[in-house]
Amino acid sequence: MATKAVLQRLITNPDRLTSLADEAKEFAFQVGMIMHTYEAPSSSEVVTYTPLTLFPSPVPKAAFLQALAVQTHFNTLVDKISQDPKFLEEALAGTIQADDFTAKLFDIYRQVQQEGQTQPIVVGLNRSDYMVDRGEDGTSSLKQIEINTIAAAGFSVSDRVSVVHRHTLRSVGLLEESECVQASNSTPRMCAALAKAWELYGRQKAVIMFLVEDFQISKLSRRGMEKELWNRNIPFICRRFDEVSRGASLDGHKRLFIDGLEVAVVYYRYGYMPDHYTQQTWDARLLMERSLAVKCPDISTHLAGTKKVQQVLARPGVLEKFFPDQPQVVEQIRATFAGLYTLDMGPEGDRTVAMALANPHVFVLKPQREGGGNNYFGEDIVRVLQGVQSDKRRAAYILMDRIRPRREQNILLTKGLPLKLACVCSEIGVFGVYVRRAGEMVLNEVTGHILKTKSIEHNDAGVVRGVSAFDSPFLI
Ligand code: ADP
Ligand code: MG
Repeated sequence: MATKAVLQRLITNPDRLTSLADEAKEFAFQVGMIMHTYEAPSSSEVVTYTPLTLFPSPVPKAAFLQALAVQTHFNTLVDKISQDPKFLEEALAGTIQADDFTAKLFDIYRQVQQEGQTQPIVVGLNRSDYMVDRGEDGTSSLKQIEINTIAAAGFSVSDRVSVVHRHTLRSVGLLEESECVQASNSTPRMCAALAKAWELYGRQKAVIMFLVEDFQISKLSRRGMEKELWNRNIPFICRRFDEVSRGASLDGHKRLFIDGLEVAVVYYRYGYMPDHYTQQTWDARLLMERSLAVKCPDISTHLAGTKKVQQVLARPGVLEKFFPDQPQVVEQIRATFAGLYTLDMGPEGDRTVAMALANPHVFVLKPQREGGGNNYFGEDIVRVLQGVQSDKRRAAYILMDRIRPRREQNILLTKGLPLKLACVCSEIGVFGVYVRRAGEMVLNEVTGHILKTKSIEHNDAGVVRGVSAFDSPFLI
């Protein structure tokens, strides 16, 4: 790609590089790619730019289109799983004995099941993540990293980054190339799905409640959604877990109220990690799940997004069960799966342990966690597995083939870090939404994409952790 030559030239001309990087950052400000700083996370006086790459990164067009094309099937799949108690029960049986967090989520799930689910409307905002694996024979294939069914974020910012990249390409004279940057526009349709759920709930004065974090470093990315909802005249509020735990209650019809307002939809931007909870806020989660409010996601859909479920789906015959008469859909989904292996107790799990210990560098060991920074690579896999290999604690993890992503060159713009040419790899995320009312899928769409790029020095990822940067696909 032409940017390769440009990067080589820029790196020998530090003044020009700094001025182009400054231009990119200023453009980022201009389009609203901004976030709070770690130094002053609560200040509305100090912001910085969201980490971004200087140029868009090349992504094979076929893999990109494949990821977009399969998204509505992934939406359907997680939705079907969420309605299959037997499947969830069996898939997570070993995990909940080994992992306290999943066990707590599962307790809530059981309680809601026993009481009988009250709300037939479901809304899902998902993001399925992939890398393009480069095979030994030089081929590229799209492989799924995971699917996020709770607090799938990044769309507001990724909707903006292509403008910056068009600008940087034009600035270095790559006019034709600047036309090939893929733009995304997820936010309006993500909000439209929440709006649809609100409308189906059917009470004009009821609000959409964003359940938000305490430490709101990415708060600004939410503002774009808020604007969309205001434009549609939909009332919404933001509340933290502790506020829900102090102020929320159910009426006799299990309607959820907080501070005198009826809640039509709870949209979780938080609640996906153990440290998001205290005993009180676990009770608040249970209260919301038991309520008549539409949950995005509900507890069963949250569980459908666990890594253990992902592993079980890769077993022979499982996808066929969810799509009995649709072999093409099964094929399309399965084509994106990397090798996934159980660590449940039993001979199959024993084989997984032996395989991982013999060759740790070709695998990733994953606990049931979200948010980045939780996985084990290389010798760490050996260390962790040696500690748990002969007892049921090992079922807290799954093992996955390590994807060998395509490597590219780019420059990451991250506050406080020097400008340097880096060897990078990218992760493609595809956003999808659906709304179901009882047996009827009211809406099922792919809404757009996100590209996140990191230096290959890092195994794990995460924009908020300062590892990954927002990027745009330059289709090749
Ligand atoms: P989390 O839920 O914490 O985001 P992920 O499964 O998405 O967990 O993994 C976090 C990061 O680890 C990914 O963004 C990716 O960079 C890296 N990673 C995860 N799985 C693999 C894999 N199979 N091969 C290579 N890298 C991986
Ligand atoms: Mg992830």
